[in-house]
Amino acid sequence: MLEELKQRVYEANMQLPKHGLVTFTWGNVSEIDRESGIFAIKPSGVDYEKLTPEDMVLMDLDGNKVEGKYNPSSDTPTHLELYKAFPKIGGIVHTHSPWATSWAQAGRGIPCYGTTHADYMYGEIPCVRNLTKEEIDEAYEKNTGVLIVEYFRDKDYVGMPAVLCKNHGPFTWGKDGAEAVHNAVVLEEVAKMAARTEMINPRVKTAPQELMDKHYYRKHGANAYYGQKE
Ligand SMILES: [Zn+2]
Repeated sequence: MLEELKQRVYEANMQLPKHGLVTFTWGNVSEIDRESGIFAIKPSGVDYEKLTPEDMVLMDLDGNKVEGKYNPSSDTPTHLELYKAFPKIGGIVHTHSPWATSWAQAGRGIPCYGTTHADYMYGEIPCVRNLTKEEIDEAYEKNTGVLIVEYFRDKDYVGMPAVLCKNHGPFTWGKDGAEAVHNAVVLEEVAKMAARTEMINPRVKTAPQELMDKHYYRKHGANAYYGQKE
C-alpha cells in the first residue's frame, strides 16, 4: 500500500548520501500521508546501496507497524511526536551531518550571520538541552521528540524548520520529505558558513534585523515575491 509514498521516501533518503549528509547508515527521512495518518520511514541499519522503495516501513501515529519486512529507523518515535504536534509538516529528516552536528556538540544555536540563513530560517537555529537521565532511561527517542515539541510550543515551527539536539545532531522538516531534505542541506551549509564566519571574526555580530526580515519575508508569507508565480 501507499506505493507512491514509499517511492518518494526512498528517493528522499537517497538524497542524503548524495549531498554528503550521512556516513554509513546514519540518518533517516520520513514522509506522512495525512489522509490515512500513515508515514513511511527508512528501515533501521540497512545500507543505502542496498535500499529499495519496498524496504520503506509504514507506521501509524500510534507507533504500530502497518507494513514492511524490516524494523523502522530507531528514531521513529521522534518522528512520530513531531508529526502529532506539528500538523503543517509532511516530512522529517534526521542526520549527523558534520557541521550542524558540530554546533550541536558545542551546545550552541546557530546565529543568523547572513541572507543564506535568513532565506530559509527565521532567526537563530535553536539548540535544545540534553535529556535528563530519567528521560533517557524512560524513552530516549520519544522524549527527544517531546523536548523539541515543548521548545516550539510558543514558537513558529514553519518559520524555523530546523533544530539541533545538544550533543547529538539536527532534525529538519518541511511540507514533504523532499523539502525536509532541502532544509537539511541548507542547514549544513549555513552551519559551515557560520563556523567559518566566527573563525574569521570572533567578534562578529548577527545580521541586521531588517535584512533578516527582508530575506525571509520576500520568500515566505502573504507578500512573498521571490521566484516565479505558480
Ligand atoms: Zn541521531
